[in-house]
Amino acid sequence: MIKSIDIKTLATLTSGKIIVQGEAMAIQHVITDSRNIIFESQAVFIALTGPNYDGAHYIHEAYHRQVRVYIIQSIPTDIHEFQNATFILVEDTLKALQALAIYQRNHFMGQVIGITGSNGKTIIKEWLGLILATKYPIAKSPKSYNSQVGVPLSIFGIAPYHKIAILEAGISKPGEMTVLNKMISPNLVIYSNLGTAHQEGFETLLDKAFEKSQLGNGAHYIIYRKDHLPVSKALEERFDGAILISWSQKPGSDYTFSVKKGPEYTKIMLIKPDFSLFTFSCSFSDEASLENICHVITACLTLGFSEKEIQSGLQLLKPLEMRLTLKQGIHNSLIIDDTYNNDLEGLKVALDFMQVQRPKKRKILVLSDFLQVGAGAELYNEVSKLLTQYKIDHLYGIGDNITLVGKCENFTSEFYPTTDDFITSNLNNTFDHDLILVTGARTFKFEKIVNYLQQRVHGTTLEINLNALTHNYNFYRHKIDASTKIMVMVKAFAYGGGPAEIANHLQQLKADYLAVAYTDEGVYLREQGITLPIMVMNPSEESFFQLSKHHLEPVVYSLNHFKLLGNFCIQENKTISIHLDLDTGMHRLGISLEEIPDLNKLIHHYKLPIVSLYTHLAGADEQIHETYSIHQLNKFIEMTELISAHLTYKPLRHALNSAGIISYPQYQLDMVRLGIGLYGIEITGKEKSPLKSISTLKTTISQIKTLQKGQTIGYSRKGIMLKDGKIATISIGYADGYDRRFSNGVGFVLIAGQKAPVIGNVCMDMTMVDITDIQANEGDEVMVYGEGISLQDLASSIGTIPYELLTNISSRVKRIYYVD
Ligand SMILES: *Cc1c(COP(=O)(O)O)cnc(C)c1O
Repeated sequence: MIKSIDIKTLATLTSGKIIVQGEAMAIQHVITDSRNIIFESQAVFIALTGPNYDGAHYIHEAYHRQVRVYIIQSIPTDIHEFQNATFILVEDTLKALQALAIYQRNHFMGQVIGITGSNGKTIIKEWLGLILATKYPIAKSPKSYNSQVGVPLSIFGIAPYHKIAILEAGISKPGEMTVLNKMISPNLVIYSNLGTAHQEGFETLLDKAFEKSQLGNGAHYIIYRKDHLPVSKALEERFDGAILISWSQKPGSDYTFSVKKGPEYTKIMLIKPDFSLFTFSCSFSDEASLENICHVITACLTLGFSEKEIQSGLQLLKPLEMRLTLKQGIHNSLIIDDTYNNDLEGLKVALDFMQVQRPKKRKILVLSDFLQVGAGAELYNEVSKLLTQYKIDHLYGIGDNITLVGKCENFTSEFYPTTDDFITSNLNNTFDHDLILVTGARTFKFEKIVNYLQQRVHGTTLEINLNALTHNYNFYRHKIDASTKIMVMVKAFAYGGGPAEIANHLQQLKADYLAVAYTDEGVYLREQGITLPIMVMNPSEESFFQLSKHHLEPVVYSLNHFKLLGNFCIQENKTISIHLDLDTGMHRLGISLEEIPDLNKLIHHYKLPIVSLYTHLAGADEQIHETYSIHQLNKFIEMTELISAHLTYKPLRHALNSAGIISYPQYQLDMVRLGIGLYGIEITGKEKSPLKSISTLKTTISQIKTLQKGQTIGYSRKGIMLKDGKIATISIGYADGYDRRFSNGVGFVLIAGQKAPVIGNVCMDMTMVDITDIQANEGDEVMVYGEGISLQDLASSIGTIPYELLTNISSRVKRIYYVD
C-alpha cells in the first residue's frame, strides 16, 4: 500500500500525460503483474516492458479484473474500448515506477538501512531485522526483492507506523546503483562483500566495487569489512572517513574483530581503538555466518543498541530457510512451506505464490502470532483484510494474539494456543485436495506441522528451483523472435522434475504449448488443472477416447495411424485437432516425403484440423552433423510446402529442440520445442554456462562406521578399506535412480562440501561412501547432484547422457519446488 495520491499527482510524479481520463480516484496500490491482482480498486497497473515482454498485453486482463488506472509507454490501439479507465502515457514505465518509489521513500520518516554486496545480503537483512524488531516496528524487503523492479515494490511495503526499513540493493550491470540509491536513500549502508558473481557487465572487480559503493551516497554511515580490498578501496576513495565504519580481524579499523570457537558456542569480540570491548556469543562457527553476524552487530551498535540487547537478539538467529517451498501433502493436498516468515510483506509474497498454484478445493492458511513490536489489533485487522482479498477459505491461527484476527464472514477460522495443540487435535482427515500455506514465526516450530502434513518424509529429495526454471526459459525465449512460439517438452515426468508443478509454472510463464510422449501423461496434466494446449507424440489407438475427452492433441506419425484416428472420429462423430510428424532423417516415427501424396488424400478425406507440422533433428547437438541437420531442415520446409499447398490455412511449423535453438536459430520457423535446456543443460556446449541448474538431488547419512584396513564393504565384498577409516551409509540406491555404474569409486557425493567417493557396489536402496577425511554426523545432508556437481560430467563418467540420469530418478523420491 502506498500513500494515497490522486491521478493528477500520479501523472506529475511520473512525468506522464493523461491521455484518457476516467473517473477520479485516489491511488493506493501499485500492480506490475496482472496475475497477482488483489487490490483492484484504487490500484494503478504499470505496464512494464522487457526485451520479450510487454506488460501492455495484460491490460485486458487487468481491466477485466476491475483495474481502472494504467501507466503505459505506448498507446494500445483499442484504448477507447476501456470504459471509464484512465491512461497515463510516460516515456518509460520502469522510470515511472521508480519515480513513484522515490516519492514514497521521501515520505517515510524513519531510518532506512540499505544493504549491498554480493553474498549474504539477504541473510544480513533477515538477521538484522530479527534483532531490530525486538525494539522497533520494522519493514524489510520480502525475500530478495532487490532489483530495479523489486526495490520499488519493497518500498511500497513500508507503512507509516514502521520505524526502520531494511532494503536490499542488487545490481547486474553498470548504472543501476545510482537509481537504487535514489530510491532507497539510505541513512545507514552495510556493504557485505564482493564475490565474482554477476561479473558480466563489469570490466574489473574494482569497477564493480565502485558501482556498488554508490549506494552510500547521502548516507550517514557505511559499514564494511576492511579486509575486502576492492570494497575498502572503493569506499575509502569515494567517501569522507567520518562516515565510514570499518571492522577487520587486523588492527587499524574501527572495530577489531576476533573469534574463539568452542564446542557449542563461538565467542565474538569487538575491540575499539580506545580498548572498549564488546563480547557476544552465537551458535554459528562457519566463516560466512560469522562475517554476516559481525556486520549485524556493528549495525546494531551504530544504531545505539546495547551489548545486552544485541546478545539477546543473537539468540534468535538460526540458519535461514529463505525459500518458499511447495510440497506434496497428504490426501492430494499441496503444501506451501514458508515456516520462516513473520511479517506482513512476507505473508503477501507467500499469498501471491499461493495465488498462482494449481486450483485446489480450498485455500487454507496456518498462521502464527506475529512476533514483532507493535503487532496489535491494527495489524491483525490488516491480516483479516488480506485473507479476504486473497480468498482464503479457512484460517488455523496458532498462538495467543492471532485470535485478534477475529471473526470474519469471508473465511472460517479456528484457533489453537500452541503448535502441539494443533497437531494433536488430529485434523489430518479434514484435508482433501486442499492448498495449505504454512507460515509463522520460527519459535512456533511450524516445521512440525509441515512434517505432519507431508505425504512422504523419507530422506531423499529432489529439489527443484522454480526461479532457475524461469531463468532458463527466458534464456531460450531471448534466443528466438518474440513472435516464435515455444512448446515445452514435459514428457517422462518432465525430465524427472515432476510434470504438474513444472507445467503449472510454464503456464505462469505463458509458454504456448506443452508436449508429452503418451496420452496418460497428458490426462494426468489435465487432472492436475493444467489448461495449456498439450501435444501427445505417441498416442496409441486405445487412448483415442481419452485424447478427445481431455482435449489433448495427438501427433499423427504414419498413414495407418491417420486412418485409425480418422475412422475413430467418424464413428464417434468427433473432431480432433492433430499434429503431423514428418520424418526427414531421424527414422523414428514420422511420415516420409514419398508418402505425402497419400497423406494429402487422407487430409482431404478426414478433414481433421492440422495444428502443426514438425520434424525432429537427429544430431542437432553435435557440430559434425551440421550438414545433415541443415539437409533435414530444408527437406522439412520442402515437405511442409507440399502439404500446405493443399490447405486453406497455415499450420504451425517447428523443428528445433534445445540444441537446435542454439545452433540453427535461423530455422526457428513458427515454434520451437524446448526440452533439456529448460532443465538446466546446454547440450551443445556452445554457450558458456548460461543456464542454471534447476534440480538438486539430496539424501541423508543413515549410519557412520569406523572400519579397519582390509575390511570389506557391501555386496560381493567389492569395497575394500585401503587404510583405517570411516564410511557413511546414505539413503539412496539404484531403485531411487542412483545408477549402479557409480559403484566402486566411479561416482561421488558431496558431504559438507567435500567429495566422498562411492565405496563398494551401489545397493538397491542404499550406498556406502568413504568419509575418512570428512567431518560428518549421522543425519547430515548429502548432495548427490546439483550446483557444484555437473550432471554432464557425472553422466559421461558412466558412459551415458544427462537425459538418462534426469529421467531415471524414481517417482518414490520426493520432489519439492521452491522460489527464493
Ligand atoms: C524430446 C523431444 C524434444 C526435446 O529435445 P531436447 O533435446 O530435450 O531439447 C523435441 N522434439 C521431440 C520430438 C522430442 O521427442
